[in-house]
Amino acid sequence: MAYTIDLTGKKGIVFGVANHRSIAWAIAQALDEAGMQLAITYQNDRLKENVVKLAPTLHQPPLLLQCDVTDEANVQQTFSSVREQFGELATLVHSVAFANRDDISGEFLKTGWDGYRLALQVSAYSLLPLVRHATPLMEAKGGSVVAMTFQASTRVFPGYNVMGTAKAALEHEVRQLAYELGPKNIRLNAISAGPLDTLAARGIHGFVDMKKEHADRAPLRRNITHREVATTALFLASDLASGVTGEIVHVDAGYSVMGM
Ligand code: NAD
Repeated sequence: MAYTIDLTGKKGIVFGVANHRSIAWAIAQALDEAGMQLAITYQNDRLKENVVKLAPTLHQPPLLLQCDVTDEANVQQTFSSVREQFGELATLVHSVAFANRDDISGEFLKTGWDGYRLALQVSAYSLLPLVRHATPLMEAKGGSVVAMTFQASTRVFPGYNVMGTAKAALEHEVRQLAYELGPKNIRLNAISAGPLDTLAARGIHGFVDMKKEHADRAPLRRNITHREVATTALFLASDLASGVTGEIVHVDAGYSVMGM
């Protein structure tokens, strides 16, 4: 029996494309190659141009929508458009995170409430409203939600600070929602990726050293690629992963299994 992933006729929405380096873009490409019709969202006008340029490179023209995940009215509007255009959803990709630069450098002890709230709101809380709106579009046939996380959720990565707190919250949400939405056959999983060069990664102090450390210490003795994250997301979105939910899948060349 041949195992192939054919998502022809399925609809998906991807949050978090800022440019061609975004993990969300790599995932969008993989889903598109498998035949899925996509809606792609971008955060604001500043990023629109990048996404508009990327869109025609997909096999099927995506629905492009502006969505700031902290703006409930905007989120609602986004899903209204998806309901009108697609009528249903099989996949939602949450590849969104933000923290003020001051809050991912220096002392974690000094993190103020506003910075803490913002980091948690964008990077963790936002999964809830997105999934809340996606659920009615998924429940007839079941669905798959994939979020992006990092090992700083469970270990100390100096410089990650409040983003580690946000990833811990996000991973818990994945498990909690997997439990709540399991009866509707909606699966939620997160990919814990090794370091990849992206816009968000550029803001992390010591990122270049971190990449080198991963390549030196990981069992595969190298860094991962965007494509490796994207194909894992494709697997999680597909029926090949029909029994997988609430899971944090590491795509990190094995780095997280090492002690010393
Ligand atoms: P990226 O900068 O390309 O993507 C982050 C996205 O978040 C951007 O598209 C940005 O517009 C979006 N965003 C921020 N605030 C938003 C808001 N208020 N509303 C809507 N969108 C908003 O960087 P990336 O590395 O591709 O990050 C994607 C995800 O992958 C993040 O969750 C990140 O923490 C995670 N991750 C990244 C790495 C890495 O090394 N790059 C490793 C593990 C996990």
